[in-house]
Amino acid sequence: MALMVLKFGGTSVADSQRIRHICSLIARAYDGGNQVVVVLSAQGHTTDRLMDQALELNPNPSGRELDMLLTTGEQISISLAALCMEHMGYEAVSLTGWQAGIRTTDDYTQAQIQSVSPAAIKKELARGRIVFVAGFQGVDAWGNLTTLGRGGSDTTAVALAAALRADVCQIYTDVDGVYTADPRKDPTATKLEEISYEAMLDMAQHGAQVLHDRCVILARRHNIPIEVRSSFHDVPGTWVRNLVAQEHAS
Ligand code: ADP
Ligand code: ASP
Ligand code: MG
Repeated sequence: MALMVLKFGGTSVADSQRIRHICSLIARAYDGGNQVVVVLSAQGHTTDRLMDQALELNPNPSGRELDMLLTTGEQISISLAALCMEHMGYEAVSLTGWQAGIRTTDDYTQAQIQSVSPAAIKKELARGRIVFVAGFQGVDAWGNLTTLGRGGSDTTAVALAAALRADVCQIYTDVDGVYTADPRKDPTATKLEEISYEAMLDMAQHGAQVLHDRCVILARRHNIPIEVRSSFHDVPGTWVRNLVAQEHAS
């Protein structure tokens, strides 16, 4: 039995049809005899919409209130997905970032994860449940909700994979993997089979939003291989991992 952390981004949970589809992927992982933790992003453009709504009412919002609002997007996704799983006959539970033990700094809208206490997740896994965790969020030392910066659900997934010592960390998105350039902008871009943490970090820091830069830093620190793959096409994705160690071993 493996412990798997699967993360699905906004396009992958955009509507009920997409949620049903990712639940079938999650069911397949669970039916394979694995423990499954699922991190979700907010549906489609929800975070952008919430941000616009906030700015309409207050062009100079406080970070604390903005984060209180933005965390709701992910909460909708995890509860809808858990409800869908229940209907498919599986036991599932959804947890917000703070319920999942994710403690952060108080740098609202750009908080950094300080610690993860995975006891609640472990308890639910031991009961045989599929655990959905809201991405992109945590709680600071004063109990205020925080967010991790745009694209931060990737970082939630890797932080949980590290804290749970997961065997597998897969990041499902709307492209088939990491390409030499953004495949939506450059039709000549080709998919990579694998990429080192360093090269991936360089890409992420130069605007390739396919992975959040902090997620790559965290994966490198804990030596967690990540598979970036599509939730639309069932094909192998791209492995982001420590290629130097591998070269030395071979
Ligand atoms: P998610 O909502 O699943 O987190 P994102 O929109 O954050 O997805 O990231 C996926 C997007 O990243 C793709 O749709 C693609 O347009 C963009 N992207 C930019 N650079 C790359 C790259 N080098 N390889 C793959 N995708 C890239
Ligand atoms: N929902 C957040 C965003 O749109 C976090 C994420 O998708 O990773 O930036
Ligand atoms: Mg993203």
